[in-house]
Amino acid sequence: MADTNPPAWHSLPAEEVARHLDTDARAGLSAENARARLEQYGANEIREGRRRGPLAMFLGQFTDFMILVLIAAAIVSGLIGDLTDTLVIVAIVVLNAVIGFVQEYRAERAIAALKQMAALTAHVVRGGQSRMVPAAELVPGDVVRIEAGNAVPADLRLTEAVQLRIEEAALTGESQPVEKLERALREPDLPLGDRRNLAFKGTLVTYGRGRGVVVATGMETELGRIAALLRAEGEVKTPLQKRLARFGANLAVAVLVICAILFVTGLLRGEPVMLMLLTAISLAVAAIPEALPAVVTVSLALGARKLVSQNALIRKLPAVETLGSVTFICSDKTGTLTENRMRVEQVYADDQMLQSLPADAAAREPWRTLLTALALSNDARPTTGEELIGDPTEVALYLAARQAGADKAVLSKSQPRVAEIAFDSERARMTTLHREALPAPPLPRERERVRGEGAKEGEAVIAFTKGAPEQVLPLCHDRLGAAGAEALDRGAVEALVERMAADGLRVLAVAVRRWSALPEPADTENVETKLTFLGLVGLLDPPRPEAREAVRLCRSAGITPVMITGDHPATARNIATRLGIIEQDAEVLTGRQLARLDMAQFEQHVERVRVYARVAPEQKIKIVKALQDRGEFVAMTGDGVNDAPALKRADIGVAMGITGTDVAKEAGHMILLDDNFATIVRAVREGRRIFDNIRKFIKYTMTSNSGEIWTIFLAPFLGLPIPLLPIHILWINLVTDGLPGLALAAEKEERGVMQRPPRPPNESIFAHGMWQHIVWVGVLMGAASLFTQAWAIHTGHGHWQTMVFTVLTLSQLGHVLAIRSETDSLFVQGVFSNRPLIGAVLFTFGLQLATIYVPWLNPVFKTEALTLNELAFCLAMSTLVFIGVEIEKWLVRRGVLYR
Ligand code: ATP
Repeated sequence: MADTNPPAWHSLPAEEVARHLDTDARAGLSAENARARLEQYGANEIREGRRRGPLAMFLGQFTDFMILVLIAAAIVSGLIGDLTDTLVIVAIVVLNAVIGFVQEYRAERAIAALKQMAALTAHVVRGGQSRMVPAAELVPGDVVRIEAGNAVPADLRLTEAVQLRIEEAALTGESQPVEKLERALREPDLPLGDRRNLAFKGTLVTYGRGRGVVVATGMETELGRIAALLRAEGEVKTPLQKRLARFGANLAVAVLVICAILFVTGLLRGEPVMLMLLTAISLAVAAIPEALPAVVTVSLALGARKLVSQNALIRKLPAVETLGSVTFICSDKTGTLTENRMRVEQVYADDQMLQSLPADAAAREPWRTLLTALALSNDARPTTGEELIGDPTEVALYLAARQAGADKAVLSKSQPRVAEIAFDSERARMTTLHREALPAPPLPRERERVRGEGAKEGEAVIAFTKGAPEQVLPLCHDRLGAAGAEALDRGAVEALVERMAADGLRVLAVAVRRWSALPEPADTENVETKLTFLGLVGLLDPPRPEAREAVRLCRSAGITPVMITGDHPATARNIATRLGIIEQDAEVLTGRQLARLDMAQFEQHVERVRVYARVAPEQKIKIVKALQDRGEFVAMTGDGVNDAPALKRADIGVAMGITGTDVAKEAGHMILLDDNFATIVRAVREGRRIFDNIRKFIKYTMTSNSGEIWTIFLAPFLGLPIPLLPIHILWINLVTDGLPGLALAAEKEERGVMQRPPRPPNESIFAHGMWQHIVWVGVLMGAASLFTQAWAIHTGHGHWQTMVFTVLTLSQLGHVLAIRSETDSLFVQGVFSNRPLIGAVLFTFGLQLATIYVPWLNPVFKTEALTLNELAFCLAMSTLVFIGVEIEKWLVRRGVLYR
């Protein structure tokens, strides 16, 4: 068992490590033992130090400088005068803090839940059985398997390393993958990077596979040790938050100047010092939009939670904000635009093109060998049920072969696989080598060669190669016909391939070669040469039905969908045409052409190309860069290890949730839980809605602030007394503004959100008439309030202050109703279509009436009960704002304003 001072694991032989940890390096821990150890060692998690408790979060609401100044001033004023005032001010500030706290807490919970969902799983062996468990449940002594694409789930002492390469940049900063090994290393004090028989939590497997015993979990891992350093990184601010923070700082200066002027003019007019001080500070607190960045976080976090329910898991919060700016969505074809359910549609051999393998395939050549090749050169495997696991292409071939009588499970007994050259996208082919009892029936020419190479009597090796036709046909020098080897007309086969591909089929060519003895598999060139062509298989992977509609939506929303595939150009063209991505005769750029273009040349083209075929994953980054250089805002999908750089580089990296590797998921900003293209488009749509609503919130609060400032600032210049008391200002701003503002987040999307072009990412949040709106509607609110004040004073109504207070509050409510849409009238939109908002407006209205008509609240809020006439007058005045904004929207609709 791991003691307080763990040994230098890398210097111990594997058996000793297992003994030390009281485990079995083959069968792993028993399930009970693992459970007990989980209790003992705790979860395999890196604790986040910055997680604030609820109390700290609540107190954090009071750390704003102006709020502190306000509280201090209120206390001083209370000590020398009216204590109720102080208490009310403090109560309002606390109430405001509660609202802020609840929001922040919800946001934090939402983000924590997202993190939980993005948590990794690990492939563990327990009680001799393999299973997937959440990585957090690993304990020291567990036996874990890792393979290319995985993130290492805990610190492991490797017991098996097959061409295992691990990228340890997270730990050592070294971006070159380290080749791992199994044997014990002598020196006990090796630096981390040289402990090559250890794999460290959080590093990424880029190649090969391995197995190891967990030696440390959670905070005990090397990553855990440096976690304190990682924490220092802190959370990233979104571009909008940064801009709002900067804007807020500038605005604060302006507001403070205004308040200072107000304070001085008040004193000159002989107002009491304390009152003027509190008024000025209250106004400053009310008008400085210090909470905006926090509100943005809340909106984004809640938006991210909503996105999960639509299968888009956000890993990096700023992505929610920038989704709406996407101008290009570059998507893989297989599985994202198509269903990833391959089916064999055509088979070609012996000059015949059939729709499936013939029923008597097993009885005649060349079908017999083709059938065997399909079954054996295949990595799909059955699970306990009827399910098959493996690459969908291979699953389809497995099924087709089984149906025609060649069951891999049976065949592999007589022809076991002895070596292989694995598939990779770059080579687009794979070869498997099998030992056979008898090369039966040996082909005439083969027999000769086999004999010539000194075959042992009764034993030989057969090698099957399958892959993209242009990667296999050039390696073939003849073909197998019914009666044996024949001349191969490569041109004719290539023409067939073109035809099949043009029908949207993924075409594979299959070939064979017999050996007298096992060749060295590492010598790829030697193994994959002088092949005998067997036939072609065409597989259909139907486009996802919803993808076509999603492509159409992209188009109308000014987003260009681009398809990137490893498939044949003709296949790509067919599928892309069916999805509406391109017209039939549009350009398709192949990986080879792409490689030949230098960056400058490519940039000339890049915005026109909609389909890339035979592209290697590494080339995706070139596409992203070129588009970004042209000023485009790019979303890029990916699933494999080699996709990671492009995902990181893209503005929105989209990793596949089902087929994606850990490496891709770590690199992405967003994970598609259903691997579906339509989900990306839905996320973009949701992103636009969220951004619109953030904009509306800002518009609402800023206009309210503007209204208050105009009211208070202008009054002295019109010869009127200070219209509002500090309590009123705070009440309007911190309480009555708050609830309706929050309810704006529930606003549904604008009509035509997907019929307008993407928002330029650098566009000011105040664009499209927003700052003009803030100024003029503020003036209108001020005018309505001051007119009310002047009228009331002039006509001898004693309740003028309560009236101003009421007009200003109710104007906000009219305003919030009017700005629910940027362009549509409230009555078209439906008064009740945002129920939380209507609820908030009615509730706030009720509160306002309470401050006026509940007798014991009158002294608290320094209000007086209004007569019916007075109330009616207030209502009429505050409706002006609503009407004004409705007229503004009407002008916008007519294209007169803010074009
Ligand atoms: P997309 O890029 O559209 O998602 P993909 O990533 O599935 O497609 P790859 O897996 O890179 O594309 O496949 C590229 C080519 O390699 C295919 O067109 C096919 O010709 C060949 N190929 C695919 N799978 C296999 C396989 N299991 N065995 C042999 N060849 C294959």
